[in-house]
Amino acid sequence: LQEAALKKADTDAVTSDGKRIQVFANIGRPADVDSALQNGAEGVGLFRTEFLYLENSQWPTEEEQYESYRTVLEAFGDRPVVIRTLDIGGDKNLPYAKLPEEENPFLGHRAIRFCLANPEIFKTQLRALLRAGVHGNLWIMFPMVETVSEIRQAKNLLKEARKELEDEGTQTAENIKVGIMVEVPAAAIIADLLAKEVDFMSIGTNDLTQYTLAADRGNELVAPLYDAIHPAVLRLVRQTCEAAHQEGIIAGMCGELAGDPKMTEVLVGLGLDELSMSAGTIPNVKENIRLIETDKAKRLSDQALTRNSSEEIRSLVEKNR
Ligand code: PEP
Ligand code: MG
Repeated sequence: LQEAALKKADTDAVTSDGKRIQVFANIGRPADVDSALQNGAEGVGLFRTEFLYLENSQWPTEEEQYESYRTVLEAFGDRPVVIRTLDIGGDKNLPYAKLPEEENPFLGHRAIRFCLANPEIFKTQLRALLRAGVHGNLWIMFPMVETVSEIRQAKNLLKEARKELEDEGTQTAENIKVGIMVEVPAAAIIADLLAKEVDFMSIGTNDLTQYTLAADRGNELVAPLYDAIHPAVLRLVRQTCEAAHQEGIIAGMCGELAGDPKMTEVLVGLGLDELSMSAGTIPNVKENIRLIETDKAKRLSDQALTRNSSEEIRSLVEKNR
């Protein structure tokens, strides 16, 4: 499979009955762009911007951020680049941010929560994004969202940042999309409400699994429990896809599960329109998509959701091959 898949890496991934599934790359820095393009990424589904902050000894400036975002946007031309705003806190600490010690950092002051509480820091990033967006197809994505209010506040700050730039006579990107990660169970449960506020949703199964199953993603002791194929997680995935489609927006996935080639058919069956993964797995997942028939995939995923456990779902998928 690998060699045939590599040959067709640059070809779109379309199911045997004609449904196009977009296959994007997850990247962590501008240097990852080449490998993403070589492996046939049709866009970037998750650009984790933390590197800018983690590798600096102070808050990165608007200019530093602008340069990085612009590099990636230019490389992808008119293809979408989903840039996630700062996802700090949890296990990612910034010494210069002087964050207070928290007993449960994963349940604490992280990601969009931190950004909304620190609007100046957040707006610096939003300004850099709006300026860089002039050079490509920018989609902005907010992490850890769980309320309608968070989306509205973030969008207001985006509007403020745009107004500031316009008043200064600086050009800003006009046709951007604004979306959220669905990575907290609450967000999946009220996905129908959140979908009305955004242009796209992307499911982050790494955090969604940890929070749904109450199993720390980095704790060896509970590693056997931490499993994205748990029927509870997959049911939230389906619910999110249905809510997105009800509002006519795209449902994507950018957690690790999206790049599991054994699960491609189930994921397509659950309704995902876009899958984003580390570059190396793109050619194989694209090849898997070409072998899928969507009606069959839907039946497989319906069956999967009635199974008792991840093990039963895995054996169902295995038998189906
Ligand atoms: C996720 O939570 O699934 C995700 C993609 O974000 P991160 O792994 O950066 O938390
Ligand atoms: Mg996450």
